[in-house]
Amino acid sequence: MADPELSMQSGGYDVELFVDAPDYDLICTICQGVLRCPVRAACHHIFCKKCILQWLKRQETCPCCRKSVNTSLIFVMFKLSKSIGRMKIKCKNEIRGCAETFSLSEQYCHSMSCLYELIPCPYQGCRAQLLRRDLDTHARNCEHWRQPCHMGCGTILSHRTQAQHNCYKQLRQEYEARQRNHRAIAAALQRKMRRMQSSMAYIKRQIGLICESLEVMDDLHEVEEEDLGEGSSNSLNGNNNSSN
Ligand SMILES: [Zn+2]
Ligand SMILES: [Zn+2]
Ligand SMILES: [Zn+2]
Ligand SMILES: [Zn+2]
Ligand SMILES: [Zn+2]
Repeated sequence: MADPELSMQSGGYDVELFVDAPDYDLICTICQGVLRCPVRAACHHIFCKKCILQWLKRQETCPCCRKSVNTSLIFVMFKLSKSIGRMKIKCKNEIRGCAETFSLSEQYCHSMSCLYELIPCPYQGCRAQLLRRDLDTHARNCEHWRQPCHMGCGTILSHRTQAQHNCYKQLRQEYEARQRNHRAIAAALQRKMRRMQSSMAYIKRQIGLICESLEVMDDLHEVEEEDLGEGSSNSLNGNNNSSN
């Protein structure tokens, strides 16, 4: 069986890939594979584009009929290319277990979703190569597995830390710490307010005392003045009364 990697390098598609044995006409004489991007030389012989261009670098004659080949008279056969694209092929991962068949043009699409495709583990630092089918099983045990907590707390979890990670508890702890902090600030503000209130009360008392002593002094003045005024008027009245 031809190595698929080798036939890729040499141009055409591996004959073994095709569900039905391809027509002899569709085989490139240079690579012995099924024509990939077929081109026709002036002598009417057909090859893979890559194969004939590589061949002409060494000698400018047709490998089939030895006639000289002019590079500018080589034409791509689009219709043939399309009908080759419609040919049914087996998955290149058939040996690994893939039983699917599809048209050649769908090969790339299939390889992107083929469960038997060999792919590297996507987690950084892991060197494992595994079938796409086994990726989930591997990820469950891969020591390089990393994922942010799905609750959105921002913690990057590994399998080891995931078991201990209790997002609800963690969020509650953070919330409680913040609340404690807020309560401490509120208490400090309250203490400050109480201190200010007591010093205001003290100042008020002092002002009250000052006012009181000022009033007492005013009263004393008034009393003194009244005493003097009343005394004189009394004596006047007395005088008036006595004169009447
Ligand atoms: Zn070829
Ligand atoms: Zn020829
Ligand atoms: Zn497949
Ligand atoms: Zn891994
Ligand atoms: Zn979390």
